[in-house]
Amino acid sequence: MDFNKSHSLFEEALRYIPGGVNSPVRSGKAVGTMPIFVKSGKGCHITDVDGNRYVDYVCSWGPLILGHAPDCVLDALRETLPYGTSFGIPTMLEIEMAKKIVEMVPSVEKVRMVNSGTEAVMSAIRLARGYTGRSKVIKFDGCYHGHSDCLLVEAGSGIATLAIPGSPGVPENLVKDTISLPFNNLEAVKKVVQEIGNEVACIILEPVGGNMGVVPPEKGYLEGLRKICDDNGILLIFDEVMTGFRVSKGGAQELYGVYPDITCLGKVIGGGMPVGAYGGSREIMSSIAPEGNVYQAGTLSGNPLAMSAGLAQLKKLSEPGMYEKLEEKSAYLEKGIMNAAKKSGVEVCGNRVGSMGCVFFTRGPVKDFESAKKSDTEKYARFFRGMLEHGVYLAPSQFEAYFVSTAHEEKDLDKTIEAAEKVFKTL
Ligand SMILES: *Cc1c(COP(=O)(O)O)cnc(C)c1O
Repeated sequence: MDFNKSHSLFEEALRYIPGGVNSPVRSGKAVGTMPIFVKSGKGCHITDVDGNRYVDYVCSWGPLILGHAPDCVLDALRETLPYGTSFGIPTMLEIEMAKKIVEMVPSVEKVRMVNSGTEAVMSAIRLARGYTGRSKVIKFDGCYHGHSDCLLVEAGSGIATLAIPGSPGVPENLVKDTISLPFNNLEAVKKVVQEIGNEVACIILEPVGGNMGVVPPEKGYLEGLRKICDDNGILLIFDEVMTGFRVSKGGAQELYGVYPDITCLGKVIGGGMPVGAYGGSREIMSSIAPEGNVYQAGTLSGNPLAMSAGLAQLKKLSEPGMYEKLEEKSAYLEKGIMNAAKKSGVEVCGNRVGSMGCVFFTRGPVKDFESAKKSDTEKYARFFRGMLEHGVYLAPSQFEAYFVSTAHEEKDLDKTIEAAEKVFKTL
């Protein structure tokens, strides 16, 4: 396989774009490669500028749950486009989107659209602080909530592999109210809340960790957090930017039957367009301007093209059998890869919830950031490069999820499993 065009484009990109990329993990630094430059995608496949074709498990980092360029999304965009690209004036599509979200996500009664997951979480934190009149925020090591200042503490994702300690440019002042605790450890939360519970505005988490690899909540963990919040006047925020419409139709809250006060959404909700959202009960959401006085705004929020693409995807996902199909495909892939690892004598730990999963190069169990970091990232890098050579595109970092879409067919999954078996043997 040759990557000449990609590599020369990367050289050029480096001259004009910091690190040659518009988001750090894409650079391939963590797996010792240069990025491929993609030309097109259809279904579960992407084709790069050198003409190499891959089965894609990044799926734009989660949004493309129906695969690349699904007809329903392209049709919706074609239908909306001639009317104009942006107004900054209400459109019907925004009501339709809000209704759809309220219908699908159990704890959401009212919702505000924004333009990214980062923005959704940043706004949800402000809302929690405004609503409670408290300032402290409890988050968890390895949970990533976008790149806003106060949440860039022990934050997983790109930060996990790029060794940026928090980040320069984030003043101590802005993180002094952020407390980061180990994931899946209720005792640690109880201890802090016992001391300063009345200063804590919210507890925020990814209900299934997806930015330290994939780490499911242990039995009783989400319930325990819900109770701590209820007992102490603290708001519970689920950052479902990754898990929303992914691990089930109604997200992790529906899957586990634990309901947060505020839900953050992104990724799948936009059908590949830049979209985020945050929502909750009518009472809490009524604190937001202009109904209330917690300010939050956006020039392009509720953008008609983004709304129509997202809506088309959500409607498709609401059809019967979609999540059963995703589960079946994902379980098949996981089983195949775990078998391949066993046959080759490579020690791995597979974690998966629905169509998001991760193969950690460690014996496991992986239940928090600490245990995730025991992974042999050098070995993952070799695995990534080997799979790439076999036409399978995985996330260029150990601490990211693989995503299965409805467009992954059995032959694609088989190809992936066969490739994995060959590559495992070379590790
Ligand atoms: C991706 C992600 C974000 C950030 O979303 P952006 O659209 O990249 O700003 C926030 N939280 C979680 C859980 C995510 O997976």
